[in-house]
Amino acid sequence: MRQIAIVGSGPAGYYTAEAAQKQWGDDVRIDIFDRLPVPYGLVRFGVAPDHQSIKAVSRRYEKTSLSENVRFIGNVMIGKDISIAELQDLYDAVVLATGAPNDRKLGLEGEDLKNVFGSASFVGWYNGHPQFAALDPDLSHRTAVIVGNGNVALDVARILAKTRAEFAGSDIVAHALDRLDTSKIERIVILGRRGPHQIAMTPKELGELAELERACPRLDAADLPEEGEDALLEPRQRKSVTLLRSFATIPEAHRADKQIEIVFDFFASPKSITGDGKVQGIEVERTELKDNRALGTGETYTIDAGLVIVCTGYQTSPIPGVPFEENAGRFANDEGRILPGLYCSGWASRGPSGTIGTNKPDGFGIIGKIKEDIGNGAGKSGGEGFEAMAKERGIEFVSFRDWKKIEEAEGANARADSPREKFVRVEEMIAAAGKN
Ligand code: NAP
Repeated sequence: MRQIAIVGSGPAGYYTAEAAQKQWGDDVRIDIFDRLPVPYGLVRFGVAPDHQSIKAVSRRYEKTSLSENVRFIGNVMIGKDISIAELQDLYDAVVLATGAPNDRKLGLEGEDLKNVFGSASFVGWYNGHPQFAALDPDLSHRTAVIVGNGNVALDVARILAKTRAEFAGSDIVAHALDRLDTSKIERIVILGRRGPHQIAMTPKELGELAELERACPRLDAADLPEEGEDALLEPRQRKSVTLLRSFATIPEAHRADKQIEIVFDFFASPKSITGDGKVQGIEVERTELKDNRALGTGETYTIDAGLVIVCTGYQTSPIPGVPFEENAGRFANDEGRILPGLYCSGWASRGPSGTIGTNKPDGFGIIGKIKEDIGNGAGKSGGEGFEAMAKERGIEFVSFRDWKKIEEAEGANARADSPREKFVRVEEMIAAAGKN
């Protein structure tokens, strides 16, 4: 019997479990650990609350969880409740599928001012992540600035721009919906240090900006390259750029009844964030492209802003004793192998890129490596050994059955037009699971 521990119950964790099942059938036992009492990681806390069709992938993960040889073990923090070395003593292979839940700092002066947030915190706030539920962003200023030209920047802009009615069907948490109701934001500036051809935004997400009830995108046509140059782009990027071109030609008459502008400010690199205790503005330097890189031109300007959200990428949380690559913000690994018996998969292994589905080949890839390394397993105690240790240490873990009780309670608490009202505090989750 092979005993596998997976740390992290997001897409990378579940696809790794699925791959292990496909590989070994009944001849493997898989325990999926999570520090929170609720599963699905990025799908619950990262995917935008108004993208329910993407979140529906959790049904596939549930199917994996309900099989005989897979267990969800929530509310256990690896590195604190139980060390990596102890986990390795219990299991033939330990796979870190912990994603990239931390913000990567820009390193700019003023980044620690009040009302400057990284996207992990801000997205975590509107998605009800217990760590960020108390963020308390102030939306009372006219202008918000979003740094970055990726899909997270688009998610954040869209959430700031939507009306309450547009959140029908979503599972945005009540505290965020109530705060958004009070928003005075009229201008959302999306800063891109490079140009339209270099965006990391995909067509579906860009297209949504043109469909908003009270907001409209704006873009200076002078920032667009010659149209003929679009032919050199790969088709999906060309589609995105075509959408940007369409934003530049939206007639003023169409904008007249829109209260919010979403302004694309390209060739604009943040220099510093200014304010006295709280953010009041962001100083930006114009850039030009050289060999596809953004070079400062020396020309600067300041955007008055009361809210800044930095959406420039994430990094993995280091774990004591596990080699970490600071620059790349992920575990040091060779195609997923970290140390003998210790592996990583998904964003923890390759950094925060790609879609949820990209984690599927990652999972199958790492199980292939584990197969080469562990043979039939070394007769380790696996889940039984963990349970004995949990009992000894008083670790109150949450099972998948417990999670189903939490899920049921969240469904029962939902607004009329929402699938669930998430618990945003760990204690509430534990109580709903019927634990103390
Ligand atoms: P991302 O796609 O890597 O985009 C990061 C953006 O930040 C890039 O535009 C980058 O510009 C910019 N940036 C990085 N460092 C910067 C700096 N120092 N100053 C100014 N700008 C800087 O990251 P993300 O938006 O966080 O998304 C993470 C992953 O999740 C991506 O794969 C994304 O597609 C995916 N995602 C998908 C969806 C969806 O499918 N609906 C939704 C959300 C996220 P440069 O290109 O110049 O470096």
